[in-house]
Amino acid sequence: MKTDVVIFGCTGQDGSFLYKSLLSKKRTVVGVSRSDKPNTKNLKTLKLAENINIIQGDLNNQFDIERIIDKYQPTQIYNLSAQSSVGISFEKPSSTFKSIVYTTQNLLEASRSTNYQGTIFFAGSSEIYGETKAPADINSKIDIRSPYALAKYQSYLQVKLYRELYNLKAVTGILFNHESQLRNQNFVTQKIIKGAIKCLRDKKEKLVLGNLEIVRDWGCAEEYVEGMQQMTNSSLLKDQIICTGIPTTLREFIEIVFEELNLEWNEYVIIDKKFFRSNDISVSVGDPSQFEKDTGWKANVGLRSIIKKMIESSLQEIN
Ligand code: NAP
Repeated sequence: MKTDVVIFGCTGQDGSFLYKSLLSKKRTVVGVSRSDKPNTKNLKTLKLAENINIIQGDLNNQFDIERIIDKYQPTQIYNLSAQSSVGISFEKPSSTFKSIVYTTQNLLEASRSTNYQGTIFFAGSSEIYGETKAPADINSKIDIRSPYALAKYQSYLQVKLYRELYNLKAVTGILFNHESQLRNQNFVTQKIIKGAIKCLRDKKEKLVLGNLEIVRDWGCAEEYVEGMQQMTNSSLLKDQIICTGIPTTLREFIEIVFEELNLEWNEYVIIDKKFFRSNDISVSVGDPSQFEKDTGWKANVGLRSIIKKMIESSLQEIN
């Protein structure tokens, strides 16, 4: 039952876009979910539910992964599975660690023991650079500020070690924040969009948020999954940073959302110090130049278009 690509974490934001992109390129794909009743909401939103093949698989069990590799013999594996929220990682450090570090180890070890010859992409995170004094490149100083960042850094080192020690064709894409209408509801960007829509419907509503001056590098999820494929298709086998290089404050993000809804943001947004984190990262921006030089990939979709899609999809869902 040979297949081209196996995606772990195929029901999430990136997994769903990646599935769609690969199908459009006529690749055969098997998606893996932890659940035997996977949540296919994102895949349905992309109108994919009919064409997909999702199997149940446990990344916490090395033998389960070996079984999947042996059965499907993919040429590429993407591991996008994780507890992906920094916020939740403060409350659930152990399960976050388990969902990132143990699973990375199991996938690497399963690949080694089955003598897997294909490429493996791991989803890393910009959180490993913490506060970025200048746009982060691959050699920037590591600055760990959350259990999530610690887990992603550990995973990055595991992948590097297995590549160097055992010649596995494994790479980490260090991803800066990327958004879409499929973005997990735990994230502040979704909270802002849902909150602003509530304000549109009821002018007495308020949206309570923390520090609006934090700066992030927000990209488009649909474009980032193309970047992931450029990495896995490249013979370079290098860890890369995937980002836009464009700094935007949370205040600017909010302004765009409210503008798109024809509302004055400062009539609705309340700042509450309770939502300020002492160890929050004030600036997180990446340097996309190396990845662009190596593969030609470049972020083209602007933040306003991403926000427009997110609003449109939320309005459709409510209606
Ligand atoms: P997502 O929407 O949250 O999806 C992640 C998927 O992982 C879920 O659909 C779930 O699928 C699976 N999963 C496994 N263990 C989990 C757990 N303990 N809790 C919750 N879900 C778990 O994430 P994403 O935004 O697509 O991100 C994909 C990958 O990129 C993740 O590794 C994330 O950490 C990383 N990343 C994302 C961003 C971003 O801005 N989106 C930035 C940097 C890094 P099943 O339940 O079907 O197994």
